[in-house]
Amino acid sequence: MDRLLAEYAMASLVHRHGRPLVLEAVRRALDRARAAIAAGRSIDPAGIEADIAARVQAVTAPSLVPLFNLTGTVLHTNLGRAPLPEPAIAAMTAVARGASNLEFDLETGRRGDRHRHVEPRLRRLTSAEAAIVVNNNAAAVLLVLDTLAKRREVPVSRGELIEIGGAFRMPDIMKRAGARLVEVGTTNRTHLRDYEAAISPRTALLMKIHTSNYAIEGFTASVGERPLAALAREHGLPLVSDLGSGSLVDMTAYGLPPEPTVRAMIGDGVDLVTFSGDKLLGGPQAGIVAGRADLVARLKRNPLMRALRPDKVTLAALESVLALHEDPDRLAQSLSSLRLLTRARGSIEAQAQRIRPRLAERLGDSWSVEVVACRSQIGSGALPVDRLPSAGLRCVPSMGARGGRRGRSSKLQALATALRALPAPVIGRVNDGALTLDLRCLDDEAGFVTQLDRLAAP
Ligand SMILES: *Cc1c(COP(=O)(O)O)cnc(C)c1O
Repeated sequence: MDRLLAEYAMASLVHRHGRPLVLEAVRRALDRARAAIAAGRSIDPAGIEADIAARVQAVTAPSLVPLFNLTGTVLHTNLGRAPLPEPAIAAMTAVARGASNLEFDLETGRRGDRHRHVEPRLRRLTSAEAAIVVNNNAAAVLLVLDTLAKRREVPVSRGELIEIGGAFRMPDIMKRAGARLVEVGTTNRTHLRDYEAAISPRTALLMKIHTSNYAIEGFTASVGERPLAALAREHGLPLVSDLGSGSLVDMTAYGLPPEPTVRAMIGDGVDLVTFSGDKLLGGPQAGIVAGRADLVARLKRNPLMRALRPDKVTLAALESVLALHEDPDRLAQSLSSLRLLTRARGSIEAQAQRIRPRLAERLGDSWSVEVVACRSQIGSGALPVDRLPSAGLRCVPSMGARGGRRGRSSKLQALATALRALPAPVIGRVNDGALTLDLRCLDDEAGFVTQLDRLAAP
């Protein structure tokens, strides 16, 4: 062991990664070599060194890495949702590096409030009286229910009992917060009289949930925020709306499908609106509650707030992204996620035409690569039905009948695996006997093309 560690290659590993990691790798590699000897196999010293280097590499390579999201889903929850604009990244870096006035009032020199960095902008952009930020929208909903509805009842339409990404299920969140869910209406139709009939002295608030990842179509009816707000007011109850995506600007102004804005909800008389920071808002992971000042003050006083509060890096990014929203005329350029969502099909197709020969050359004769029209999704549950016209590269194994369907499918999986193994992994979509790369989100074209040289074509 000592002799091995004294060698130049090992010394360089120790220099780069520190002694304990390398020592552990050497121990394991030697154990394996001893086992090989005991089993009567011959061993090669160079093989041991390679084994050590591979073990060190395996544990020191970063786990969380940037990648190319060519799935066609722009706000992909598994792939980190919204890309952040440069000013937000700069703001995060600046506060990450040292001390900041996170909870320090520079005017008075006394203790300050961390929400103050974003609240004035949130008020201006939503017309709400007050707002606070927590770690994500699930936390925002939990905080609202825990504060306002503990041991009391919350009527919710059966058509709105959402599940988002498996772990977030409205009935479970209610239970966690100690609130009793009272289901009203039916899956496809809920009327104002259903809410009315559900209201009792035990009712804490009325709740509306934006069905953000599905659409109920056909013979349907639901009650909008405005009439529900009137009913809530009549009974002295707050109306809470879990908006999910929560756009601060009118998406139709950018040629995108309509999505309710937080401002419109407040205008309709909703008392508290909860929404995500990293969906249509295009910012960091965060949850925002905007609405009536007295209710927001109660949320702030809840001891849970201490556990759910955002860190300085999140607040810095959010402040910066909110600042961009103050100039909606430039937002389609300044906000990265909106820029991707509004990319014209023509520009994506031109990019696909540029890249096609490079990918085709790399994949060789056993693949056909063509430029195709495809449709992107906004993702993160926003605007679930609408699709954005896009363009991509469709890779199909051109092995003819050989291998049949099973052979084609395993070849497609092999290509998907090879793309994922690149230094900046490339994630596409396998369906209909092809692997399609939707280029809507391809910002770094040069980086993508350069690393194609390292693609091991199956
Ligand atoms: C996305 C979403 C949530 C959860 O938000 P996170 O920010 O992912 O925690 C809750 N409710 C609705 C309606 C949503 O769309």
